[in-house]
Amino acid sequence: MAEKIDIKELSYQELEKIITEQGFPSYRTGQIFHWVYQKKVSSFSEMSNIPHNFITRLSSLFQPNSLQCIKKMESRDGSQKFLFRLGDKHIIESVLIKDRKRNTVCLSTQVGCLWHCLFCASGKEGFKRNLTAGEIISQLLAIEKISSEHISNIVFMGMGEPFDNYEQLMKSIEIINEKQGINIGTRKITISTCGIIPKIKKFAQNPLQVELSLSLHAAEDSIRNLLMPVNKRYPLKKLIPACRDYVKKKKRQITFEYMMLKGINDSQEQAKKLCHLISDFQPKAKVNLIIYNPVFKQTRLIPSKDNVVLYFQRTLKKCHIPVTIRYSKGQDIEAACGQLRGEYLNL
Ligand code: SF4
Repeated sequence: MAEKIDIKELSYQELEKIITEQGFPSYRTGQIFHWVYQKKVSSFSEMSNIPHNFITRLSSLFQPNSLQCIKKMESRDGSQKFLFRLGDKHIIESVLIKDRKRNTVCLSTQVGCLWHCLFCASGKEGFKRNLTAGEIISQLLAIEKISSEHISNIVFMGMGEPFDNYEQLMKSIEIINEKQGINIGTRKITISTCGIIPKIKKFAQNPLQVELSLSLHAAEDSIRNLLMPVNKRYPLKKLIPACRDYVKKKKRQITFEYMMLKGINDSQEQAKKLCHLISDFQPKAKVNLIIYNPVFKQTRLIPSKDNVVLYFQRTLKKCHIPVTIRYSKGQDIEAACGQLRGEYLNL
């Protein structure tokens, strides 16, 4: 017998089509969406206004859930980290980041990752598989249900490179954006990429007004090659023009993420190179300087000192580049990408 799919893998239109083909009225689609995405039920039998014969049919076609929370940790700063077990026993992680204005969830899109960035625990074990749209959305629903917090923003910055799972990523965004479902606006959703040029080009053609952020972390190839092996495939001389085209086509701002690493990319020479690299994006770019959260000792990467970060920031400001400093949340609960999962699996 074919495996039942997670009902969250279907867009509103896809579910409506199946429901009418099965001989049930199309308005049932809205009811199902309400139960799954607003009430966040974990079984079809909880859908109290749905007739029994329809529940039986739904249960024969779909499963209501594709993951199970196996661990939750809460940081002193309020952020929460979740470990989820998937149907095939793989483990993924997601984070809830709370601040005064918004509740943001950081979602995973893959089990593991292909790219082995030096500062990231997710790539350490290598790539296992892509997540389905249902598994991506399930992280969000589970976090809302467990934490009892309303989620206002989403970043695809958890385990995996989102653009390496482009189709399921876009489908999950479509479903998350659906008015009858979770209804989070596309402008409150950010995709973070390590720089997969063909997908940046593809995304530039996509009408969804989703935010894009590029993990840059270095202004010259020799340093970026060291930190991010993806740079050998997509070097800066090709990546930066692709980002420029994206900004032009989409008329959207791009955010450059830059992790401050002591003695590697935090010199004044690097600050000036960064200015040179991206100053012509203005006013359509900003820089986030990220204070590194040490992931595992083997990398020997050390966060830059506060005064070095401030000096770096000042240099960018002099070039009229908007720049903010982002302090890592959840340091006491291993909240860096892939870190808690790595600890759990003893990687
Ligand atoms: S930073 Fe992103 S692209 Fe790099 S290894 Fe980690 S998950 Fe993959």
